[in-house]
Amino acid sequence: MRITRVEAFHVSWGEGRSRSAWVRIWSDAGTYGLGEASPMVHGNASLEIVASAFTPMLLGADPLETRVLQDRLFHQHIKLGPEGAYTGALAAVDLALWDLKGKALGQPVWKLLGGGWRREIPFYASIGGNGERTVDEVCRVVEQRLALGPSQVKIRFDADKTARDVDLAGDIAKARAVRNLVGDGFPLAFDSNNGYSVQGAIRVGRALEELGYVWFEEPVQHYHVESFAKVADALDIAVSAGEQEYTLQGIKRLIEAGVDIVQPDIVKTGGFTGLGDMAALARAYGVDLVPHQTQPSIGHTANLHFVASLTHSHYPAEYNGPYGVQDVVFRTPVRPVKGKFVLSDAPGLGLEVDESELQKRTIPWTSSAATG
Ligand code: CA
Repeated sequence: MRITRVEAFHVSWGEGRSRSAWVRIWSDAGTYGLGEASPMVHGNASLEIVASAFTPMLLGADPLETRVLQDRLFHQHIKLGPEGAYTGALAAVDLALWDLKGKALGQPVWKLLGGGWRREIPFYASIGGNGERTVDEVCRVVEQRLALGPSQVKIRFDADKTARDVDLAGDIAKARAVRNLVGDGFPLAFDSNNGYSVQGAIRVGRALEELGYVWFEEPVQHYHVESFAKVADALDIAVSAGEQEYTLQGIKRLIEAGVDIVQPDIVKTGGFTGLGDMAALARAYGVDLVPHQTQPSIGHTANLHFVASLTHSHYPAEYNGPYGVQDVVFRTPVRPVKGKFVLSDAPGLGLEVDESELQKRTIPWTSSAATG
């Protein structure tokens, strides 16, 4: 089998909404696979890398050779990064190749990854924007999301990364109010989104321990690995991080600093191939890997396939939804039923496309390499 065409494009979700950065890879068997890159700045940089740097290398290659292709692509232009937009581009290609592989073999991706430890995957409601809300507003939003039946809730603060320790007492008050709302025993996680100094993080972390939170996510700037080490050393609560790491070596540094849970993201870290390596690394260290994932369509579905196959994982999958308009291009989006996502036996990622809806929303990426 050979790759005959690589399409890089945006999918528009409508005025004022974000765009998704997608890749469609066609084979000479007439089948295709779909992938998605991290959507930072609409994923523009990743689409350009796919269009101008990766496509010439992919055309004519065997799409089933996912690991060989990823390594070739990774090293060919490694001086571009190799993080962020570059591994996002690798991810889009890898997801599309696995989707294509599944369709070619008539098997779901979760099975090709080694099989499903779980076919019904509980999720945690990932709730952003709480830094701006009052305590009451935070509780109201959490209440709304509890109606979906999550097995855990994570409150995110989406902090301004140029400021630190803006409202430690307020953040603790919100954590306490949410604990009171859900009652003792319901799993909760807290995500500062890099908002604290080491001292601020330790203060909030001690409060979270007392409130019985499961994990404390990205307490300090992601690039201050030594600060993670200090926070993790001072606290008993599990400290988590890794959604802003893109390589196997980056995850290794975090684990060696003492982070208890690593959270790489399938649309940022080279897809199934990149994330699979990280899972093996985490397992070797005895550290939990709980993937970050907030993209509404392909990324979310791919993550569920990955989580299903993740060895010995008992954690719920992240769910930033409900996504509403954003999965209208699929006839078969994976939606939660009674608090769980259920993976089918449909080939590939199991996402059946409504072509006319997709065409309406597609904005082709015109590479500068193509236009000169
Ligand atoms: Ca996070």
